[in-house]
Amino acid sequence: MKIFDVIILGAGAAGLKAASVLKSRKKSVLIVDMGDAPARKVAISGGGKCNFTNTHADHTHYFGKNPRFVMSALSQYTPFDTLNWVKSHDIDFYEKEPGRYFCKNTAEDVVSALLNDIHGTEIKYNTNVQDIEKNNDIFTVKTDNGTFQSKSVIIATGGLSYSHLGVSNIGHIIAKKFGHKIEPIRPALCAIKTKAFTPDLAGISLPAQIKIGKNIINDDLLFTHFGIGGPATYRTSLFGTQNIVINFAPNINAFDLLKQAKTKNGKKSVSNIIAEILPKSLARFICDDVRNIADIKDSELKIIADKINHFEINDADAIGLASAEVTAGGISTDKISSKTMESQICEKLYFAGEVMDITGDLGGYNLQWAFASGHVAGLNA
Ligand SMILES: Cc1cc2nc3c(=O)[nH]c(=O)nc-3n(C[C@H](O)[C@H](O)[C@H](O)COP(=O)(O)OP(=O)(O)OC[C@H]3O[C@@H](n4cnc5c(N)ncnc54)[C@H](O)[C@@H]3O)c2cc1C
Repeated sequence: MKIFDVIILGAGAAGLKAASVLKSRKKSVLIVDMGDAPARKVAISGGGKCNFTNTHADHTHYFGKNPRFVMSALSQYTPFDTLNWVKSHDIDFYEKEPGRYFCKNTAEDVVSALLNDIHGTEIKYNTNVQDIEKNNDIFTVKTDNGTFQSKSVIIATGGLSYSHLGVSNIGHIIAKKFGHKIEPIRPALCAIKTKAFTPDLAGISLPAQIKIGKNIINDDLLFTHFGIGGPATYRTSLFGTQNIVINFAPNINAFDLLKQAKTKNGKKSVSNIIAEILPKSLARFICDDVRNIADIKDSELKIIADKINHFEINDADAIGLASAEVTAGGISTDKISSKTMESQICEKLYFAGEVMDITGDLGGYNLQWAFASGHVAGLNA
């Protein structure tokens, strides 16, 4: 049986990036993937436009037990390296917000570039990895499409979100078998279910501030039929769903505003006053009292103001892995070298991408992590 230098499990962003570096190092490589096409998440990323990097990428934009784990890889393959790589493939791109880059045409441009870089490398699609064994320094990779051997293995099997694309937890199972700890997984970068709002608000979007524990997120919030979505909610889900407090008008003290209105616009209804700072239907949802504001006691106005500046949600739940953009948790980075991505328990076993307990913020940070960790694994495997 042929013994490859490296077998890469997973033809996603991380696996393909690792393969391109291994190709430039003239290593013999086999990539195996359970799906029938490469980089299927990249292909749908960024609403089809692939937000491929963010120049603000540093450990403060990553989550997991040890976010500082990303520092070495991000310095070895920076967002500017990603940007230069995109330019080298003549991909048209644009900066949507400062530092946040997307394809002008489609995400397929990034998939093609990744494939271009590994031209000639053997990829076996529709090949489901089932187990790995290591004997006498040789790894044996067992799949439902044959058994393969190599001197090194890179596990780049990704997370468990968007299951309809074909995902598995084999990376976690194999890592555990070799002695690695698995941090509990949960959906992240996703919408949140709550019955705190009426479905009538679905479609309304506004800038808001969400507090969850010590964390404060300022971004756009979108009401959905089942709760809340939009970037503010997605970013909130990185921290879980417990003790969420929304401020619908972060720059306004609603109680002061209502008290002033009482003297200045006493004949207006509270709902109409609130509609001056919030979308009309949200204003009505917060208070549909038709009385003149002048007739309402301050204590009642305080309760209404709290619904604007301090709306507590107590029944929140993440929408589920099936529609989350990423999986939080995964293989603990405890026993992985941040400089090489090699296991500190099993020599020549490497990890790359979302399979590890590293989750990036919304904004191109997850692909940057997949590229950087894939690059480093490819340099060392
Ligand atoms: C809808 C959506 C939009 C997103 N948009 C963005 C964005 O714009 N910017 C951004 O930075 N991030 C975005 N992300 C996140 C980003 O796409 C992922 O974090 C990134 O693709 C992870 O790369 P990966 O290589 O680690 O894993 P994956 O891309 O998931 O690749 C893992 C591969 O392993 C294979 N595999 C799994 N199990 C097995 C097995 N048993 N046998 C064989 N093969 C197996 C899978 O088939 C898959 O091809 C988005 C994610 C989603 C779902």
